[in-house]
Amino acid sequence: MHITGGRHFLQIPGPTNVPDRVLRAMAAPTIDHRGPEFAELTKAVLAALGPVFGARGPVVIYPSSGTGAWEAALVNTLSPGDRVLMSETGHFSTLWSELAGRLGLQVEVIPGDWRHGADPAEIARRLTADERHEIKAVCVVHNETSTGVTSRVPDVRAALDSVGHPALLLVDTISSLASIDYRHDEWGVDVTVAGSQKGLMLPPGLAFNAISEKALAANRSAGLPRSYWDWGPIIAANERGFFPYTPGTNLLYGLREACAMLAEEGLPNVFARHQRHAAATRAAVRAWGLEVLCADEREHSGSLTAVLLPDGHDADEVRRVILEKFDMSLGAGLGKLTGKIFRIGHLGHFNDLTLVGTLGGVQMGLQLAGVPIKPGGVEAALEHLREEAQ
Ligand code: PLP
Repeated sequence: MHITGGRHFLQIPGPTNVPDRVLRAMAAPTIDHRGPEFAELTKAVLAALGPVFGARGPVVIYPSSGTGAWEAALVNTLSPGDRVLMSETGHFSTLWSELAGRLGLQVEVIPGDWRHGADPAEIARRLTADERHEIKAVCVVHNETSTGVTSRVPDVRAALDSVGHPALLLVDTISSLASIDYRHDEWGVDVTVAGSQKGLMLPPGLAFNAISEKALAANRSAGLPRSYWDWGPIIAANERGFFPYTPGTNLLYGLREACAMLAEEGLPNVFARHQRHAAATRAAVRAWGLEVLCADEREHSGSLTAVLLPDGHDADEVRRVILEKFDMSLGAGLGKLTGKIFRIGHLGHFNDLTLVGTLGGVQMGLQLAGVPIKPGGVEAALEHLREEAQ
């Protein structure tokens, strides 16, 4: 049976569903990116973005995927041979550390089990051991999209402060920005890395660096080669409303609209909505008798939930059945989690009834794929949503 009616359920943890309002905003003629109308667009977008990051300083926008913003954060602040401290929280932290190595940085990785966030105490220990302050940056993935585990960024900041270490703090918020509470300035982050295709509800294609004063100062002496990613010319051109290259004009129309939607709902409400859906999803998973991958109650992701399958069951087969029978895409297990987990994305343009449909598809798919589950998962989620709606 192939279902053709209704909309596809895109419930991977990004790219996420693009709201009709944003699609309509992008369906407009591309304008002269050196003309006055474009300058107004740039200024409006940059003014709206600051509050989304919780940043008063510059936010640089690249026509790029998130990986570009990872590279930009490193090449703008560091020099060849600099030491950087990274925490292995999953597939994406691993990719970021590999990228750093290829750029010529000396990467020290704190090993992890992919079920916990970065360990602030271990970070403090490593920094204490670095008496000569050779570690120039601590890099953390706020929300590990491969595992559904968050890192406690304020605690990581406190770890740096508690040992008086001057390293920069670089944070990847690609799957947390505009979904999970995040505060660039207040939490003392130096570079925040983000992308358009998750909480910002846009298609892929834009990436961001929010930049602290300290990171700007580091930029002036950082020696890694850079050209396209260089903050300097972009910040200078942005002041007049322009970019030093052809920007992604129509994506910027979409970004202006998405920021307006976030402001209308209010970021605290956006965060609370994601937490509510995450908690309802966990209630369903536990009622099915399955295990959530995240092992620390403090670190559950508001953006996605990773579900462990019992031994002998293939998570990719469950996803295949769900796509074929119910036209829903779920996230695959990545790296060493391939086949062991599937990931339910509940971020971005998403409401209670989208969650109910999503969990209904997951429950039926698990049953059809022969995974032994208890009934009642969807009902457990409904109960949670009902209580919260009162
Ligand atoms: N970091 C995280 C946390 C991600 O989830 C992703 C992609 O999903 C990336 C980095 C890489 O971003 P991109 O695929 O847009 O290059």
